Amino acid sequence: MEERDRGIATMTVDLREAAAWFRETCRHVGVGVALLDVQGRILAANDELAALLRTPADELVGRGEDEFVHPDDRQLADWGIGDDAQRTQLRLLRPDGEIAYAIRILRPLRERFDGSLALAHYLDVTEHNSRLVGLAELGEFAQTVADDRSGAELVSRARNLLTRHLALADDQAAAALGGSPDVLELLGGEDRAFVRSIASILETAQARRRAENARHHLAAHDGLTGLANRATFAARVDEAVGRIEAGREYLCILMIDIDGFKRVNDSLGHLHGDRLLRDVAQRITGVVRPTDTVARIGGDEFAVLLTGLTVPEEAEAIATRVRDAFRAPFAADGRAVHLSASIGVATARSRATDPTEFLADADLAMTEAKSTGKGRCVVFRPALRKAAAHRIALEEDLRVAVERGNFRLDFQPIVELATGRWIGAEALLRWPHPTRGLVPPLDFIPLAEDSGLVVPLGRWVLRTALQHRVAWSEQLPRCPDFCVSVNVSVRQLAEPDFPDDVAHALDATGVPPSALVLEMTESVFMDAENGTLRTLEAIHGLGVRLAIDDFGTGYSALSYLRNFPVDILKLDRSFVAGLLGTAQDRAVTSAVIGLAHQLDIDLVAEGIETFDQLEILRELGCRLGQGYLLHRPMAADAIPATCPAA
Ligand code: C2E
Ligand code: MG
Ligand code: MG
Repeated sequence: MEERDRGIATMTVDLREAAAWFRETCRHVGVGVALLDVQGRILAANDELAALLRTPADELVGRGEDEFVHPDDRQLADWGIGDDAQRTQLRLLRPDGEIAYAIRILRPLRERFDGSLALAHYLDVTEHNSRLVGLAELGEFAQTVADDRSGAELVSRARNLLTRHLALADDQAAAALGGSPDVLELLGGEDRAFVRSIASILETAQARRRAENARHHLAAHDGLTGLANRATFAARVDEAVGRIEAGREYLCILMIDIDGFKRVNDSLGHLHGDRLLRDVAQRITGVVRPTDTVARIGGDEFAVLLTGLTVPEEAEAIATRVRDAFRAPFAADGRAVHLSASIGVATARSRATDPTEFLADADLAMTEAKSTGKGRCVVFRPALRKAAAHRIALEEDLRVAVERGNFRLDFQPIVELATGRWIGAEALLRWPHPTRGLVPPLDFIPLAEDSGLVVPLGRWVLRTALQHRVAWSEQLPRCPDFCVSVNVSVRQLAEPDFPDDVAHALDATGVPPSALVLEMTESVFMDAENGTLRTLEAIHGLGVRLAIDDFGTGYSALSYLRNFPVDILKLDRSFVAGLLGTAQDRAVTSAVIGLAHQLDIDLVAEGIETFDQLEILRELGCRLGQGYLLHRPMAADAIPATCPAA
């Protein structure tokens, strides 16, 4: 008694957790099981025990186990916590007064629940009292099922039980477990029941294992393609690196990213996008060996682990094969869709390889493949790591500079070509870096976009540009319409608050909306979802004008000019540079100018560097221009000092 009281006093078990654990592990183990507390109270019982006691499981809960034990056996049934597993034969009472014979195996749950709970297995031996020895083992067998041994071990134990207790040969035992009538006929009724009990326990165990495997498969695989997922892939890489036989073989990771998949996915819809991803998975799987691991490790990112390579050229050859597997068009929604993949290749030759770095190297090579053109394979080289380190350092500096506002804006005048009058100026961001000198925007804007820093940075640019506009207005009394143009990136437009930011900046500085132009590249329109369209309309609704920057370098699907509120086209400087070349170049520029006129869109030619270019643009009827010939970008306070109308 003392023991028990102590048990209760120290019991810290969460009973709900215990009951949940029990439901999870003991629901269908094939024999009766109960979860008991230190006082022998039933906390949970499974259906098999309910059947044995002919009492619904929920009515068993909360009652003492001894209520179901024959009075003469209660002494036997008593137990003290802390004992090892005990095996006892008991007579159990059913509500109708009938008696069932059972072997109870009681096991304190030492590892779980502080050992203050116990699990009792009840083997129904009512029908085969005579086979007690074998049946006791059957009980143990059932317990090994609950202990979750491996499948093969369970089968061999089951056979072993049959060979020893029924004097069957091993193959006969196997046949008996498989339900072979030939063997079962050799046995008496009781023996057949014995076989059936074992087979049923085994089957339950196997069913549970199958369910667990399915659960496990789900956790390890990508639901869409059935390929390994990121975690599994990383684990396989880990494992494979640990087995490399240096000097004899090497490993290779192919990191595969589908080029421009987002656009395809957005235009086709996710259903077709998903189907495409499945097709991609199949194509990749089709060109590697069955022993290689193919995984989907992100939205449109796949990876392959190639093992046991021996010839140095092999990895690249396989990478090329994967790349070429994208050549034939894919079918989606009755259309042919052309996809390409950028592939990074990294190899590992010794067990000393750090698997995380190995993966990172393949990733770096893939990023390099992407940034140097699409549909390419790039093999990792250490210089990429240096470039990445440089990028990381630069990003860190950029973060600090954004926090402190360590930037400056220069302005390049936008000029009316016929008169030389300035109609405004474009703000161009400058980063004077403490050690690297002046970093050009094309070196840090992409970094700011990738890291999201472009959002706070862009806010700073907008405010500062408008503040300069306020300062100029006093010095440029003859130019009340002087506009300031500000570049914005796609990433800023994706922010739902962007229109509010613009409105606030205008309010705070008192600059009229008509004096602000926001420049964005064609990609904004090509990737536009409904959200972007709403954002553009909201900004346009404020009275702010929108310009398409670098016009002509993007996709040139001109339909968006109809769908979006575009006020100004800025003809890319490559067209201006081409004006003196072939007649075709001139024809294209002339056509764009005509198009702008017809759509009532203003046109600014960028990058005018020579008098000849200026002359031709004037002839073609281009109204506005920008370029080194006219003015180089200058400091903000040089604007009123230089402006001809000032
Ligand atoms: P952009 O908006 O097309 O700006 C024009 C770029 O062409 C500027 O380069 C300008 O200095 C340069 N340029 C002007 N006239 C000539 C010329 O006659 N010949 C040549 N070769 N170049 C000329 P910059 O300042 O290096 O800016 C480069 C790009 O960086 C800009 O191209 C713009 O896309 C981006 N950028 C600059 N400031 C910002 C900003 O505040 N926010 C964002 N998101 N992007 C910016
Ligand atoms: Mg611009
Ligand atoms: Mg431009």
